Amino acid sequence: MLISCPHCHRKNRLESARLDAGPTCGACKKTLFTGQPLALSSATFAKHASADLPLVIDFWASWCGPCQQFAPVFSKAATAIEPRARLVKIDTEAAPDLAARFAIRSIPTLLILHRGQEVARLNGAVPAQEFARWLDTHLPAVS
Ligand code: ZN
Repeated sequence: MLISCPHCHRKNRLESARLDAGPTCGACKKTLFTGQPLALSSATFAKHASADLPLVIDFWASWCGPCQQFAPVFSKAATAIEPRARLVKIDTEAAPDLAARFAIRSIPTLLILHRGQEVARLNGAVPAQEFARWLDTHLPAVS
């Protein structure tokens, strides 16, 4: 499978069986999983959206209170969910093109994307348990 590096954004080819083995980037040698959400711009998002690892996206903005409330829930989930998926944050103010492309009408909006296809969407700052359940239900298997 192809995985984009969270540091240099280059694609790495990796056996899915090696996901749990602390893989590192062939280009920049840094770790492919940091246990933290990854902030992406329009340009870097394209590199991750075209790889094989499912993305869990948090569309947010700095002025949005519920977004700030939800941020720690999302951060904790990154540690729990990696390497099954990558958790990604998109600032809708900095990337209005992505907000438009995914028809984001309220924030926070959470969206699972796999190989460019939307798998599931959840609106609002949900409690941690509900978020975990939603991820378990909708995250596609990695292969
Ligand atoms: Zn790299």
